[in-house]
Amino acid sequence: MKVGDYDISFLNGGTFGLDGGAMYGIIPKPLWHKRTPADDRNRIDLIARILLIRGHGRNILVDTGLGDKWSDKHRDIYKIDPASPGIRNVLAEVGLAPEDITDVMLTHLHFDHAGGATREEQGELVPAFPQATYYIQRENWEWANHPSPKDAGSYRKENFVPLQQHGVLEFVEGEAELFPGIRLLLSNGHTPAQQLPLIRGEENTVFYCGDLIPTAAHLPLPWGMGYDNFPLKIIEEKERILPQAAEEHWILLLEHDPGTAALTVRRTEYGVEAGDTVSL
Ligand SMILES: [Zn+2]
Repeated sequence: MKVGDYDISFLNGGTFGLDGGAMYGIIPKPLWHKRTPADDRNRIDLIARILLIRGHGRNILVDTGLGDKWSDKHRDIYKIDPASPGIRNVLAEVGLAPEDITDVMLTHLHFDHAGGATREEQGELVPAFPQATYYIQRENWEWANHPSPKDAGSYRKENFVPLQQHGVLEFVEGEAELFPGIRLLLSNGHTPAQQLPLIRGEENTVFYCGDLIPTAAHLPLPWGMGYDNFPLKIIEEKERILPQAAEEHWILLLEHDPGTAALTVRRTEYGVEAGDTVSL
């Protein structure tokens, strides 16, 4: 899809499964199970999408999927598909190699977003995109290195410490226009300083929802994740952003919804609900 001067598309960063109860917080299973059936270990199917933005001479990734540094034990727990094609093959399908990526914006450093940021090469952890500058909010970096007991399991140091060791990290502080027409909005409810790109063109506007709205099921205000560190803050943020998204006809990009990659939202008398699905 064309957005302003950019071409945007989604890449498959791997499929996985998480406990349905944890994904839907306080929502009772009879309600969420109808939308997203769980397997015999109560896991629902998820995807880790990577956004590719091409334009202005750059090949930019937003998030990096699950990566391939997984033990058999964790592949089993998180239902990570061993047959996943891997980033090199996924990029090859669109005519790119990891060396062609100029920039990587990491929304935050949880493993299903930053897992593919590094890879193992002859026993050493190295940046997976050797020519790229990696951008992360300084506040999220600090939290990732000293996480809450609640999200410590999601911040795996092998995904981000090597980036600093190789000097490829650039810290962003607060909301910023990183590239022309691409503004990073901040969301603090899931984890501190998640940065979410808003790309504005003359014809359309797209917003990458990250873990603020991971799937279409998470649009209603109380449908938050058990993983969220600050659930009331997420509700405030959705209350602020969703009416604006409806008003300005934003296309919302969903990182984790296997069935719906992008959609619009519309206002109703009760709030904001899913509108039309959009294909990139
Ligand atoms: Zn997360």
